Amino acid sequence: MGAGGPGDTGVGPRYEVSGASLECALRAHVAALSACRRCGFSDPAVVPVVSRARAPLVMLVGQAPGQVEIGASRPFAGRAGRTLFRWLARAGLDEAAARDQVYIAAITRCYPGPSPSGRGDRVPSPHEQELCASWLEAELELIKPALLIPVGRLAISRFLGPRPMHELVGRRHERPAADGGELARVIPLPHPSGASSWVNVPRNRALLNRSLALLGHEFRALGLTPALARV
Ligand code: SF4
Repeated sequence: MGAGGPGDTGVGPRYEVSGASLECALRAHVAALSACRRCGFSDPAVVPVVSRARAPLVMLVGQAPGQVEIGASRPFAGRAGRTLFRWLARAGLDEAAARDQVYIAAITRCYPGPSPSGRGDRVPSPHEQELCASWLEAELELIKPALLIPVGRLAISRFLGPRPMHELVGRRHERPAADGGELARVIPLPHPSGASSWVNVPRNRALLNRSLALLGHEFRALGLTPALARV
């Protein structure tokens, strides 16, 4: 197995997983990702935040970690995470189960700093997104998730294109696998941070509820939750 390290430029890493379990492959991937410093953030505390899931069928992809996440060394550790895990619990998966069974990735993996507007975190620049993309590509290649959950506008447009959120949230989509294998189901969620007011609009709230009901169905079909779990 090869993996991109601190000095590489964003091309790769490439993996050969035949003969290696997903768990071993992900362990090596996460070790390489944790050492990545491609973006050259000046604060030594700003390091990649990684998922703890090692045998996932599901991937969740957010935007980028916040300051709370780098302190806690786990994704969605702050207020947005509490909202996200409350949503996933409504779909039948509590936080502990979600952290174990859902690989939590992001468009970029290091805290980008505060937004110049003072509201929320800075959106990673296109250059940072490009530098970080190979980690996500490698995870998609390794995990071949049956179900993808993009969270927030940036991640949703990465998988479903730059369409309005109300056309995408509340529906189940399909995405061809890179290797021509089985289609992955894609069920988007709005970002749970308070920085976006999208979710507070009643008609959008109804779309969120539909996404959670669809997720509950998928979690049960994948055997992640009891068959009779209610959403
Ligand atoms: S944001 Fe991504 S590419 Fe940039 S240093 Fe962090 S892990 Fe590496």
